[in-house]
Amino acid sequence: MFDKILIANRGEIALRVIRAAREMGIQTVAVHSTADADAMHVRMADESVCIGPPPGTDSYLSIPAIIAACEVTGAQAIHPGYGFLSENANFVQIVEDHDLTFIGPTAEHIRIMGDKITAKDTMKKLGVPCVPGSDGGVATLDEAKRLGEEIGYPVIIKATAGGGGRGMKVANSAAEMEHAFMTARSEGKAAFGNDEVYIEKYLQKPRHIEIQVFGDGKGRAVHLGERDCSLQRRHQKVFEEAPGPCITEEERARIGKTCAEAVAAINYTGAGTIEFLYEDGEFYFIEMNTRLQVEHPVTEAIFGVDLVQEQIRVAEGHPMSFTQDDLQINGHAIEVRINAERLPDFAPRPGTITQFHAPGGLGVRMDSALYDGYTIPPYYDSLIGKLIVHGKDRHAALTRLNRALGELIVDGVETTVPLFHALLQEPDIQAGNYSIHWLEKWLAANLEQSG
Ligand code: ADP
Repeated sequence: MFDKILIANRGEIALRVIRAAREMGIQTVAVHSTADADAMHVRMADESVCIGPPPGTDSYLSIPAIIAACEVTGAQAIHPGYGFLSENANFVQIVEDHDLTFIGPTAEHIRIMGDKITAKDTMKKLGVPCVPGSDGGVATLDEAKRLGEEIGYPVIIKATAGGGGRGMKVANSAAEMEHAFMTARSEGKAAFGNDEVYIEKYLQKPRHIEIQVFGDGKGRAVHLGERDCSLQRRHQKVFEEAPGPCITEEERARIGKTCAEAVAAINYTGAGTIEFLYEDGEFYFIEMNTRLQVEHPVTEAIFGVDLVQEQIRVAEGHPMSFTQDDLQINGHAIEVRINAERLPDFAPRPGTITQFHAPGGLGVRMDSALYDGYTIPPYYDSLIGKLIVHGKDRHAALTRLNRALGELIVDGVETTVPLFHALLQEPDIQAGNYSIHWLEKWLAANLEQSG
């Protein structure tokens, strides 16, 4: 059992972990930059340690400072949240070398899944369906052009080290291949220090469907169904729901079983997400995230589980608290990501919150680190809250979302809340009829024009 854990993160996800730990009787240590001295996670944790100046690279990404904070406070384990060091295999190795526990998978699993070519190859061998494409890396333009003909245009060229929507370029024809190939390579090199790329068939109207998996590190694993995260802007999710409006029970059982068996076969530990594109009844693997996802609360809502407490349990060496048969879906859940951004261009708008009121009532969860008078610093992500609603079915969840958004007050900064009010009026959103391109098209036709 852990007595004390350190949370190597900030904002709503740090609160999420503190809450889970407190219910388990575990003490918490917050770390913070000088810009976050007044942040809610610092106030809510049992102890806090300042680990550096405002930029993330000097604080939340500073491995020596975080390890030192564990030693000073006697924390035995580290929860990384999402982003920052959560998928850094080198960090996990250092944590283990200091006889601390990383609440998450092994360095080896993070390494395998962090390289998209290795991840795809591994998943293919484990029986997971993948997007048709190159076998591994594509070294030359000639090879890329040959593959373009073979796979059939359009194709997408992706940096193996890519992430966050960067290092991906679409080529619609052979004429576009040179530019797309060179750009994906140089973006990969500039952003991730690795110019290796691979090629995939570019799917025209897929949905983004991801499967939540959970393993005990000893060969047992379960799946917790899917989330539909197709509503994206620049490959960033803005609205997520579970279960997926277009996924049948049979499809869920089939792809879920494949995913659970795949992660069981590699002795995967803790929470993971296997992401797919879904088109015409087929699933195509694109990547695996070896951490808790921003959108995990929709899964928690429909299964009635606490994924963070489960991560902590498994990191302590305990078995999972549920079996596959225990996991039954109850109702429907939707999450919207509220960012401090100006519409229509989504420019970050940090500033001081003059008034904050979180919605409440049955089936409403607001995960946010805001409070009256809080000043959002300009150095980090613009996510300021997640509103999650749960209802007996999709219609009830949408109705509840509309009601909860109406109660929410965030004054002092501009936010993306008006976007969700507008989306809820759209027949396609009401019907659950959207692909990964729907939101970009809608924004171009509506918001950006009127703004
Ligand atoms: P990242 O690691 O940068 O998030 P992903 O591989 O997860 O990159 O892809 C992010 C998004 O890019 C997907 O959700 C989808 O919108 C789009 N995408 C990726 N691969 C393809 C593909 N083969 N066809 C169509 N769209 C794709």
